[in-house]
Amino acid sequence: MTNRENAYKQAFDLKKASLKRKEAEYDNKIAELYANNTRYAAICANLSSLGAKIAITALSGDTETLAKLSEEISKLQLERDEIVKSEGIKPVSYDCVLCRDTGYVGGKVCDCVKQIAKGFSLGLLSASLPLENSRFEDFNLEYYPTAASGTSSRKRMTGIFKLCREYAINFDPRTSENLLFMGGVGLGKTHLSLSIVNELLKKDFDVLYSSAYNLFSKMENEHFNLRTDDTYNYAINCDLLVIDDLGGEFVSPYVQTLLYNIVNTRLLASKPVIISTNLTMKEIESKYTPRVSSRLLGHYTAKLFIGDDIRQIKTLQK
Ligand SMILES: [Zn+2]
Repeated sequence: MTNRENAYKQAFDLKKASLKRKEAEYDNKIAELYANNTRYAAICANLSSLGAKIAITALSGDTETLAKLSEEISKLQLERDEIVKSEGIKPVSYDCVLCRDTGYVGGKVCDCVKQIAKGFSLGLLSASLPLENSRFEDFNLEYYPTAASGTSSRKRMTGIFKLCREYAINFDPRTSENLLFMGGVGLGKTHLSLSIVNELLKKDFDVLYSSAYNLFSKMENEHFNLRTDDTYNYAINCDLLVIDDLGGEFVSPYVQTLLYNIVNTRLLASKPVIISTNLTMKEIESKYTPRVSSRLLGHYTAKLFIGDDIRQIKTLQK
């Protein structure tokens, strides 16, 4: 199963389980009502026999009786619904009104499933990923100061912002370049990476986004405990791999090997990677083996993010 198929399966499973739970809850309450409320039980029995009667009458073409019967049914249904309501039993509330949580609308997969699958295909981190709020439209260049003299952070960031937007617009899984986002925390590296991810997901590209920490722990765990290499294979083969916060992972010798294999294999196959890191060039060189660092520094277009910590600014403004 491909990662995408797997993501869809997980999304459908999730919907199915949630629908089943809600319906079971409702059914239990109705069953209890049926057992304890004689009037309710009588109405239900009545409705069943009237249903049979109306089916037969419809065949006979006796419109007068038919009208009488349907009126009677409507009345009973109304009374039944009133009893249910008065008992405080609420109808099943669906997460998605379009497909009523079945996952399908008119034989097609509903958008709600696609949305969930998207989260799962991002894999490792769907729950905590601020994908929704990380779009190009939400990126505010006004957080970056302009300078009277010297390098203006806003000017530089405007350039990086444009580069990222064009990267997403013109993305080609065989020719797009590798990017290395550098700079301190809170300067928008994750935001712009996710903005690219958002755009590419809309265009149905296979994107794997993960923090280095999650990515490598998952790969190690799969390799040593589950004896599969699903995440590794996906990291090698997806259209775009985005590794956030390189340097935040625990660098074991096995992780060095993994990182080298991923970076090198994707380079040879001309498959793009975006890496963001708080590390400086020097720190990259001292943390990783020369064969990893030489590839990062030699084959990636480095972009230095500068400015003030935006998270801090946002907190102070609250
Ligand atoms: Zn739906």
